[in-house]
Amino acid sequence: MPRPRYRSRSLRRIQKKTPGGKTKQIYKKRKPKTHKCAECGAELKGIPRLSPAKAKNSPKTKKRPERPYGGFLCSKCAREKLKKEARLEHESTH
Ligand SMILES: [Zn+2]
Repeated sequence: MPRPRYRSRSLRRIQKKTPGGKTKQIYKKRKPKTHKCAECGAELKGIPRLSPAKAKNSPKTKKRPERPYGGFLCSKCAREKLKKEARLEHESTH
């Protein structure tokens, strides 16, 4: 029976080979889920799957693409949204 703290299923169980050739079970924290596009739900690229504690200490530029709606919409949706915005602006000025 593993130690009480390792009985939790919130930890991943990994089979790892030791240098001696035996396989040993090790316990690792699960990775957080990927960030999703707010419009279409697609996986967002360029965003690391960091735990909140790690995300806190890493620079903002490493956590999302540096463009309007970066880290919120995927590139396709952002492009469409920007086009729509530009057209709306154009209509209101004329
Ligand atoms: Zn999208």
